[in-house]
Amino acid sequence: MALPDTAPAPLDVLRRVFGYDAFRGDQATVVEHVSGGGDALVLMPTGGGKSLCYQIPALVRTGVGVVVSPLIALMQDQVDALTALGVRAGFLNSTQDPDERRAVESAYLSGELDLLYLAPERLRVESTLRLLDRGTIALFAIDEAHCVAQWGHDFRPDYLALSQLHERWPDVPRIALTATATRSTHTEIAQRLGLTEARHFVASFDRPNIQYRIAPKNEPRRQLLDLLRSEHPGDAGIVYCLSRKSVEQTAEFLVAQGIPALPYHAGLDAGLRARNQARFLREDGIVMVATIAFGMGIDKPDVRFVAHLDLPKSVEGYYQETGRAGRDGLPSTAWLAYGLADVVQQRKMINESEGDRAHRQRLSQHLDAMLALCETVECRRVQLLNYFGQQGDPCGNCDTCLTPPESWDGTVPAQKVLSTVFRLDRERGQKFGAGQIIDILLGKRTAKVEQFDHHSLTVFGVGADLGEGEWRGVIRQLMAQGLLGVEGTYQTFVLTDASRPVLRGERRVKMRRDPERTARTRTRSSKAAQVEMAPGAAPVFERLRAWRGATAKEQGVPAYVIFHDATLREIATRMPTTLTELGTISGIGENKLAKYGDGVLETLTGGDEAA
Ligand code: ADP
Ligand code: ZN
Repeated sequence: MALPDTAPAPLDVLRRVFGYDAFRGDQATVVEHVSGGGDALVLMPTGGGKSLCYQIPALVRTGVGVVVSPLIALMQDQVDALTALGVRAGFLNSTQDPDERRAVESAYLSGELDLLYLAPERLRVESTLRLLDRGTIALFAIDEAHCVAQWGHDFRPDYLALSQLHERWPDVPRIALTATATRSTHTEIAQRLGLTEARHFVASFDRPNIQYRIAPKNEPRRQLLDLLRSEHPGDAGIVYCLSRKSVEQTAEFLVAQGIPALPYHAGLDAGLRARNQARFLREDGIVMVATIAFGMGIDKPDVRFVAHLDLPKSVEGYYQETGRAGRDGLPSTAWLAYGLADVVQQRKMINESEGDRAHRQRLSQHLDAMLALCETVECRRVQLLNYFGQQGDPCGNCDTCLTPPESWDGTVPAQKVLSTVFRLDRERGQKFGAGQIIDILLGKRTAKVEQFDHHSLTVFGVGADLGEGEWRGVIRQLMAQGLLGVEGTYQTFVLTDASRPVLRGERRVKMRRDPERTARTRTRSSKAAQVEMAPGAAPVFERLRAWRGATAKEQGVPAYVIFHDATLREIATRMPTTLTELGTISGIGENKLAKYGDGVLETLTGGDEAA
């Protein structure tokens, strides 16, 4: 690689500035390639370590690394995090006043910056381009590069304009980065950004530290509370809900239970939204209850759980949302509660959605893939990776691996449900929802059964062999497999083309037996949560966390900007007594050692005296 002799070696920069021992995965090759002037397209999962892929080349090469990012609300935090490492960073976006902007511009021109963050729309302004011309650019990093590929994306026009960077600065290397894994997005990014010569780096999308669990939904808020109390007390996490109303109700519920939860959705006042986001980022242990409007670019490393109270619309969405857990590599939980009502509701939403048939078909395919993930009896992780075109082995860290569900032949119960729907519809022109169908199967003479004379149906009472919960499971799985359709505003059932072979006995229906609610996954994961902490280290870790919280508050930066949990855990376990010893801990570079070293050592000894 053609690096000038005076350039620092990437590995030295990694150790000295960032305090890490070694590169991870593809990082070393990407860094070497870009440092040497090559273009790159990097696909890595969230938490994979994309930032270092452009930050280190920017430090190694002459000039300023220009980082294009749509997430202007987070630029200040990114710059703070770099400043804490002793890296000279600034940003230009619409939130600044002219004075602030001028200061950053002159720092850029006089070569006093290592990294400059820019909102993409800045690059459509001629004056910005002229400014960049007058300085030396080390590289262009295009973060969240999938923005160029997604229709209807807010930033798309600005991103499309980025293809001009290469025309104006043909010698400046470009590195595009994204956590979106699908092959079509990947191809489109390369094409749209004109990255024809770029080397492609596709990392494994596995997130081994995340435990994936999908639970049958019965009382979702109670179940959530259980999860938080038993496995994640005091932890930061995100709870996703489908509607604004359920966001607010769930946040209120958690607060009433003594859990520090905040709501976030597009209907809230912008100021409140920004405040809630800032608190989530800055304080320890906040639970954010949100719609999917929340989360893009949130690079808080210590989100310990992501819980979904409603079914996501696609596997892509689910993976992106759950991927916000555990960026720091420590054990984290992705938990989803899923039930019959979710399937009914989503099928209905698709039926009623605007757009042509092809659009609805696409939505259905996305939903089907999500449902297949929910209903699988195989390893969730293997199924997720397969979805993104990658291979994996049963992981031992998902609910189906930890508590394997049985599968059973559900053909006869399926026929009972389908023939009930058939009789109601064909013989009487009636359509009903799940409740009535189950009452008929169970032979319950409810008022509604009497009213419609349903006790005279031949199927009345033929399902006494299963309980109500089991029938809901059967109906849910029929919906999930497309063997039962939904129609109309009352969410009533109809047969589909695929129902017929089942009714005629030509197709067997395999079903999953939902495991009883067990404590098994719980024991396992609470054990995992204590990873790498020596016995007795927990109180020290808590003291360090308190010190970090106070320091962060004093300096007006997020707690993780000071040290990540992983670093605090290692300190608590190794109990260093000197600055030199402390400096060998992962995540403590020269600058942080100088700035926080004494504070940490005092916190460690201070505790001893108190004890
Ligand atoms: P991404 O942008 O891909 O989501 P980040 O760049 O934010 O990921 O990195 C995720 C976490 O991993 C961060 O906390 C980062 O400091 C840490 N990290 C990245 N590379 C390394 C490394 N080589 N050694 C140790 N920690 C690393
Ligand atoms: Zn598994």
